[in-house]
Amino acid sequence: MMKKKILIVNCYMDEFRIPVQRKSKYPQSMTTAFLAGVFSPELCDIKLYDEVYSGPLEDEQLLSFPDMLVLTGLNSAFDRMLHLTAYARTKNKNVIVVAGGPVIRILYNYSTQFFDYCCTKDIEQMACVIEDAFGKKYISDSFLEKGWAIPRYDLAYWIKYFGHVESSRNCCYACDFCSLTGENAQFQEYSIDYLRDQFLAMGKRMGVAFIDNNFYGTNRQFLLDRFELIEEFRDRGYFKRWCAITTNDFFLNDENLELAAKSGCVNLFSGVESFDKEALINFKKYQNVRMPQVDIIRKCLDAGISFYYGLIFDLSTRQISECKDELEFIINHPDITLPCFITLAIPLVGTPSFNKSLRKNQFLPNTKLRDLNGSTLTLNPLDSMDEAIEFVRALENLSGYRRKIFRHSLKFFNRYKGKMGWWQMGQALLSGPLIAAPKLTTARSELFKGFQNGHIKRTYVGATEPLDSIYTPAFRVDARYENYFKPTMLTDANGNLSKKLYMDLYQN
Ligand code: SF4
Repeated sequence: MMKKKILIVNCYMDEFRIPVQRKSKYPQSMTTAFLAGVFSPELCDIKLYDEVYSGPLEDEQLLSFPDMLVLTGLNSAFDRMLHLTAYARTKNKNVIVVAGGPVIRILYNYSTQFFDYCCTKDIEQMACVIEDAFGKKYISDSFLEKGWAIPRYDLAYWIKYFGHVESSRNCCYACDFCSLTGENAQFQEYSIDYLRDQFLAMGKRMGVAFIDNNFYGTNRQFLLDRFELIEEFRDRGYFKRWCAITTNDFFLNDENLELAAKSGCVNLFSGVESFDKEALINFKKYQNVRMPQVDIIRKCLDAGISFYYGLIFDLSTRQISECKDELEFIINHPDITLPCFITLAIPLVGTPSFNKSLRKNQFLPNTKLRDLNGSTLTLNPLDSMDEAIEFVRALENLSGYRRKIFRHSLKFFNRYKGKMGWWQMGQALLSGPLIAAPKLTTARSELFKGFQNGHIKRTYVGATEPLDSIYTPAFRVDARYENYFKPTMLTDANGNLSKKLYMDLYQN
């Protein structure tokens, strides 16, 4: 039987709008590795490519390779999926292009004109696509037998010392801005046997990262079962440490932190988003107002576990002065970690916050789908546009706060040096460089190139922001695909929803 050549790509548009390799950006995407697990390893020659780790895919040989190109990525990567489709179809007019991920699920009608298969479900749908395109024989035996995809760690070249696993899917909460809320995606637990299979496939590593949307979930027994399995694999020498992403309610029960620390947890990420109660209620993040967030972070650090979180500033509902006060509040609290990223609120397509912004006519004119990246103004700010631009520019590397960040880190170190191990302390202190020098911290390999490759002068406003250099084809593409390099417009010149996306996004 003929072997099929499969190329699976995690598409990515960098928020700095330069073609960088973000080799130290964590956690890393495993979707391509999970998708690869659905294909028969005997009958398919599979290659994976991660644009976050490796930068934009422009290798003509690799783009000529596949019989089937599988594309996945976040909202802002939609245009990148179009670019890669144009490249691959120029090289091989018979290539089958499959696209999936949240943006395809939301923009299904619009997407069908570009791709052969548009997936509206989770990765298991890949099996239906394979069967339809090549026949059932091309599905992996283990997937057919067990019903789950074992990730191909052997192909996931970007996963190094920390293996990545997943024990559940989606979330039990419904924050306004979250793409899971937009899709009404229900929380699902995986079986313990599936997690065991992932640990075994991952092999021995320094640590393991749980990339669940919400590690905590709703079922106490499931949590205890996972702790037990983690301890078993630690004892067997598979890994020493682990980290996870969890919702705030995990910290309300003290026993959870005790069990986590005992089983080798070194780092937890939780979506704090804001220390302002009104802002949290505005995000419908009600679970975060049950206990002061500062207390939660302190509790986690006192248990010897590093705490990561992000901040979201919605300039369409908050004054810049309030956001600055919030930054001062954090910096004046050396008993908590600094945020590891700060982003503008992103009105992701299909989410309640997107629909609300549309209803209130808050979108700026000529906003592109690509602008939904957290560092570009896409909504009318409460303050003047000039003030908003200046604030967003300063947020990029927290200019003006660097000395304070340094002082915060020193005080933090002195407070927790007896309580945290060296690994946890190192992780906790990393937040400072991540917000003060994000390019340097997540894309060190670019340092020697001076980040000049594809450099553009940013305006921080969707309508005037110059296009990234990757919108210019890296090599000659068939004229039929010229429009694949034009940005997908979200709004028109009046700030109204683009007509092309009406069928998918219009709400009464
Ligand atoms: S808690 Fe996190 S994953 Fe869950 S809905 Fe809110 S933002 Fe999404």
